[in-house]
Amino acid sequence: MPSIARIALNRPLRRLFDYTIPDDLRLVAGQRVRIPFGRQQATGLVVQTGVEPLRGISLKPVYAALENWPALPEETFRLLSWASDYYQHPLGECLFTALPPALRRGRVAEEKTQEWWLACNDGEALPANAHRQKALFAWLNEHRSGVAASDIIKAGFTRAQLRALSDKQLIKLTSPPASGSSPETVEAVSEKPALSAAQTTAASALATPAEGFSTSLLYGITGSGKTEIYLHYLKQNLEAGDQALVLVPEINLTPQTVARFRHYFGTRIVVWHSALNDSERLATWLKIRNGEPVILIGTRSAVLMPFTGLRTIIVDEEHDSSYKQGEGFRYSGRDLAVYRAHLNQCPVILGSATPSLESVHNAEQGKYRLVKLEERAGNATQPTISLLDIRSRSLEGGISRPALNAIEKTLANGEQALIFVNRRGFAPVMMCFDCGHMVECPRCDTRLTYHRRDRAMRCHHCDYQTAATEQCPKCHSDAFKPVGQGTERTEDVLASTFPQTPVVRVDRDSTQRKGSIQTILNQVNSGKPCILVGTQMLAKGHDFPNVTLVVVVNADGGLFSVDFRAPEQLIQTLLQVSGRAGRGTKPGKVLVQTCHSDHPLLKTLCEGRYLEIADQLLSEREEGQFPPFRAMAIFRAEADTMEKSLQVLDIIKPLTNIPGIETWGPLPALIARRADKHRAQLILNARNRKRLNNLLTGICQELDQSKLPAGVKWMIDVDPQETG
Ligand code: ADP
Ligand code: ZN
Ligand code: ZN
Repeated sequence: MPSIARIALNRPLRRLFDYTIPDDLRLVAGQRVRIPFGRQQATGLVVQTGVEPLRGISLKPVYAALENWPALPEETFRLLSWASDYYQHPLGECLFTALPPALRRGRVAEEKTQEWWLACNDGEALPANAHRQKALFAWLNEHRSGVAASDIIKAGFTRAQLRALSDKQLIKLTSPPASGSSPETVEAVSEKPALSAAQTTAASALATPAEGFSTSLLYGITGSGKTEIYLHYLKQNLEAGDQALVLVPEINLTPQTVARFRHYFGTRIVVWHSALNDSERLATWLKIRNGEPVILIGTRSAVLMPFTGLRTIIVDEEHDSSYKQGEGFRYSGRDLAVYRAHLNQCPVILGSATPSLESVHNAEQGKYRLVKLEERAGNATQPTISLLDIRSRSLEGGISRPALNAIEKTLANGEQALIFVNRRGFAPVMMCFDCGHMVECPRCDTRLTYHRRDRAMRCHHCDYQTAATEQCPKCHSDAFKPVGQGTERTEDVLASTFPQTPVVRVDRDSTQRKGSIQTILNQVNSGKPCILVGTQMLAKGHDFPNVTLVVVVNADGGLFSVDFRAPEQLIQTLLQVSGRAGRGTKPGKVLVQTCHSDHPLLKTLCEGRYLEIADQLLSEREEGQFPPFRAMAIFRAEADTMEKSLQVLDIIKPLTNIPGIETWGPLPALIARRADKHRAQLILNARNRKRLNNLLTGICQELDQSKLPAGVKWMIDVDPQETG
C-alpha cells in the first residue's frame, strides 16, 4: 500500500489534495514538492503524511521533493495552521505567504550571486545627448555600495545602457553588500547612552526569556527611550546562538532605527520589508531558515519567517494599523507575534506610547504585564498640547493666524516646525461655485483629490486619474476652485509666507522616488530651521530633536466617524504627531486646530494621559458591546451590482442565527462602490470567540458548497480594523 501525502497549493481553495509518495521519497510536513495538477505541474507544500487511502480513488504520485528538508519548520508550520483557522483563510495561501516569492514559484532554495554595479569614475566623458546613460550614472554615483542589476532594470534602465557605461569604464561589477542592508547611506550613530534610572526600572520589569512565555506591554510616552530599552534588553538577554524578531510598522521612513540597531549588533541585524527585491528576500529568508543567530527587523510579514531558534519578539508601535493585513490573508502581525511567542515559550514585548485598546484591556485583565515609562529620555520634557478653536477665524492654507505666529516664532528661535495635514494632494475636492458640481471618481463613490503639482485629479481609492481642468467640466464656469486642505496647498502657503525658510513636504507622493526620504531626513537632521508639512507618515517613530512646534491643521476628521475605532485612532494619531515636538533639549509645543474645542475627547487629549483616555474609551466600547469586549468578524462581498453582493450576504445571515451572536447588516459599505465593485458587508459580533470561530468555519464550508450568484467575491475579516 503506497503512502499518501496531503498537499496544499498556493490557491484560494479551502481544500487539500492527496498524492501518493513514491517509495524512494521521504516527506515531512512543511516540505515543498513538485506535483501534477490538472494538466500542469505545481509547487505544493506537504501538510500531512501517512494519510489513510480512500478506496476506489486513484491518486497521482508526487513527482519530486524540491528540498530534502521542510521549507517551513515545525513551529512556523504550526503558527500558520493556527492562523489559517483563526482568520478563516485557506491553508495553502497562508503557508505560501511564509515563503519568499522565488520559492513560491518553485525555484531552488539557494542563493544566486547577484550582479551589482558601482560607479567608478567621474561621468565627464559622457556625450551631452546621452541623457539616460547620464541619469543612470548619476543614480549609481549616489549609492556608494552599488545597486543590484535587477533594481536598475526595474527603475526603467536597460541592459544596453549598462553595457555602454561599462564599455566606457565608468561603472564596474562589484560584490553585493552584506545581505539585507539597504544601499542608502544612513548617518552614523555615535553614542550608546546608558539607560536612565526610569529606563532601567522599566527594562528590568520586562519578562526575560528564562521565564518562558510572557507578554509585556511597554507603555512608554513618546520620546521616553523605548528603542534604547529594546537595545539594552536584547544585549542583555540574547545568547550567542539566539534569534530575535523586532516588528516595526515601517522601515523605509525610519532608517535611523535600523542604524541604531546595527550600531549595537552589527551584521547580526537583517531587515525585511516591501522594498527588498526577490533575491534579497530569498537570501534573508535562507539565513533565518538556516538558524543563523540574526535579529530580524521587519514589517508585518516578518512575523511569518521560518525561525528555528526564536528567543525574543518585540513589536514596536504595537497600536499601528499597518500590522493588520488589509486583503487576502487578513492577519494581524502583532497578534500572531503574541501567539508565536506562546509557541516558542519566549517573551514578547509590545511597545507603544499609545497602545491599542485591545492591549490595554489585556493588561487590565492581567494577561499582559504592564510596564510604564512616563518620563522622556535625556533632558527632554513632554510637549504641552493646546486646542485652537478656528470656528470664526480666517485661515490661510488651513492655518490660523495664531498658528502662523507660533511658526514664525519657532523659526526665529532657530528651531523647526511640523505641520500635520491628513490629506495628500492640493485639495480634497474641486468644486464649481456656479453650479455646485463636485468632481467625482467615475469608478468609486468618492470625490477626486486635486494634485496641483502634476495637474491631475486622482482617486485615492482606486487608480483612476484624469487631467485637471481650469473650468467646471459641467457648466464651463471659471468659478471652479479647490476646496479644503491638502499637503500641497499648505506647503504652498507656508512657502510664500516664509520665503526664507525651506518647506519640506512628506507624504506618499513626495517620498515615492528611491532615496527621497533620506534626502528629507538629512535636511531635518541638519537641525537648521525648516517647516515640515506632512501626513501620517510624519507621526511614525521619527526622532527630530530640533522640532519644537507641531501644528495639527484639522483634528476634526475622526470625531464624528461611524467607525467604532475612529476615536481611538484619532487620539493615537494626535498623540503620536504631538510626540514629535520637543524631543531634544528644548521644550515642545503642540497646537491642535479644531472647530470643536469643547469636545470631551479633545479636552482630555490636552492632559495627555493616554492610559486614562484609553480607560474612558474602553468603557464606551464595553457599553456599546464592541471589541475587545466582543469578538468581531465581517463578511464582505463585492460584485458588479449591489444586488448580487447583498444576495450573498442574505444567504449568510440566517446561518448566523445562533445564541450569543449578533449580526448587523447586510448593508452597503461606507464607500459602496469602489473601482466599479459594489461592496456590502455583514458584521458578526459574538460574546464568545471560540463559538464565533466554529460558526465561521461552518459558514465557509457551506458557502463553498452553495451555488452563489456568478461573479461575486466574498471574504471574511476576523478582528477587522475598519468596519466601514
Ligand atoms: P521612543 O522610541 O520611546 O520614542 P527613542 O528610543 O527614540 O524614544 O529615544 C528618544 C531620544 O532620546 C533618542 O534621541 C534617543 O537617542 C534619546 N535617548 C534615549 N535614551 C536615552 C538615554 N538613556 N540617555 C540619553 N538619551 C537617550
Ligand atoms: Zn459648474
Ligand atoms: Zn476611484
